Amino acid sequence: MSDPVFDPAAPPPMELIRFSALSPGPRLLILGAVHGNEPCGPTAIRRAVDDVRGGTIRLLRGAVTFVPVVNAKAFLQNTREGDRNLNRDLHESVIPRDNEERVANLLCPLLRTHDALLDLHSFKSHGEPFVFAGPDNNSGPLEPFALADAEQAFAAALGVDTLLRGWLDTYAAGFPDHPTHGVGTTEYMRYHGGMAVTLECGNHLDPASPEVAYAAIRNALAHFGMSADPVPAPGVTRRIRLTKVFVAEDAGDALVKPWRTFDRVTAGEPVAVRASGEILAAPADGYVIFPNAAPTPGASLFYIAVDE
Ligand SMILES: [Zn+2]
Repeated sequence: MSDPVFDPAAPPPMELIRFSALSPGPRLLILGAVHGNEPCGPTAIRRAVDDVRGGTIRLLRGAVTFVPVVNAKAFLQNTREGDRNLNRDLHESVIPRDNEERVANLLCPLLRTHDALLDLHSFKSHGEPFVFAGPDNNSGPLEPFALADAEQAFAAALGVDTLLRGWLDTYAAGFPDHPTHGVGTTEYMRYHGGMAVTLECGNHLDPASPEVAYAAIRNALAHFGMSADPVPAPGVTRRIRLTKVFVAEDAGDALVKPWRTFDRVTAGEPVAVRASGEILAAPADGYVIFPNAAPTPGASLFYIAVDE
């Protein structure tokens, strides 16, 4: 049988693989390829699925749902997005207008019916893997939350050194006209009572990235007591919080050098210069995060984060 050939314009159905242990326990959702050019999730998930089927991973309690490829159109195109970024402004639509809204109509109910989410991603630059977790416990209007300790323990068990937080409040402050655009899988999950982390496993094509993703899947199952694997020790040694996003106003706004995520900066150090000549300096000692070398006006130019 030959491999099926799919057309990105008529993507295949979303494949969901669910294993339910005979003893009750947490419902864990593991996602790959929310962004289509990030193959580490699909690779690691398919390996883990084979391992559960073959008994190498023994599921003792709860249920795990694997979605190897969330965004099939983007995956088939090997592009980050199909029609737009699925991980922004995530919501259901009665009348979906594009690929991502159709995917969201399948994804949102899935998120609502699980207790925890491991969302596997990778990035364009080269650098250390890291994990994104949510806010402190709070009852504020933006992202109320009550599971911060459990979520951060989950994040710390996955096997990476760096924990980054502060996404939605920083995004909403930087893009006050569009705070909902900061809502992706993890924010949606928290709103519906779950806990959720995004694991950035490394460079898109680094052969180490699927290994990071696979280890995280096994660690997640073990952390929640769902598998027979030993419970992993907390591995996070560095905790960083996003504090500010600088938004490009002109396509000529430019970084002063080819920054990489987690490069250190000192307070007052120039990070970028606007087309107008205005210097954008680091407001505090910390790190440059998500530097954008080719920003479009209105997009993020860079974020600043500080040690927690
Ligand atoms: Zn991604």
